[in-house]
Amino acid sequence: MISNNDPIKKLIDELKRLPGVGEKTAQRLAYFIVAMNRRDAEGISNAIVEVKDKIRVCSICYNFERSDPCPICSDPKRDNTTICVIEDPRDLVAVEGGTSFKGLYHVLHGVISPISGIGPDELRIDELKRRIERGGIREIIIATNPTKEGEITARYIQERISGLDVRITRIAQGVPAGGDLEYFDPQTLSAALANRREL
Ligand SMILES: [Zn+2]
Repeated sequence: MISNNDPIKKLIDELKRLPGVGEKTAQRLAYFIVAMNRRDAEGISNAIVEVKDKIRVCSICYNFERSDPCPICSDPKRDNTTICVIEDPRDLVAVEGGTSFKGLYHVLHGVISPISGIGPDELRIDELKRRIERGGIREIIIATNPTKEGEITARYIQERISGLDVRITRIAQGVPAGGDLEYFDPQTLSAALANRREL
């Protein structure tokens, strides 16, 4: 009989907080960790503590980085007149690694999703607007994923910033509908950026 303060039960409950991890997966992972050698298990536990200690949110683009402002926002060689708006930090890694884009980013940390109860106020859209209002930005490339939620979010952002003196573009279709930027190959992603259209 497993009681509530059983360490294995506790680990299972903690693992269930992770996205996509239900009871069965949490159980499998927990027993795997129990069977691991101490050094490996501590490696996982220390890595979690280390990201919480060392990674912060950039106060300009809202990417996760070790410094604030992040290396991209503080790089004088980047084109600071163009901002690529993306859903989450993984998309930044994809665009940065797979394309020759040299502008700046703005990480929304999600998309508008009524089903999941995520409204525009949960995202960094006001912050984007304020960034544009501070001046110096010529183009906003909206690179949310070509999913239903990604399109709704792109449309919403366009409406919110349409009064400002800035060109608003959307990455080209030709990327698969319902796709996820993170999984595009570099050529598709580069073409999507190069063939962006006016919004
Ligand atoms: Zn930044």
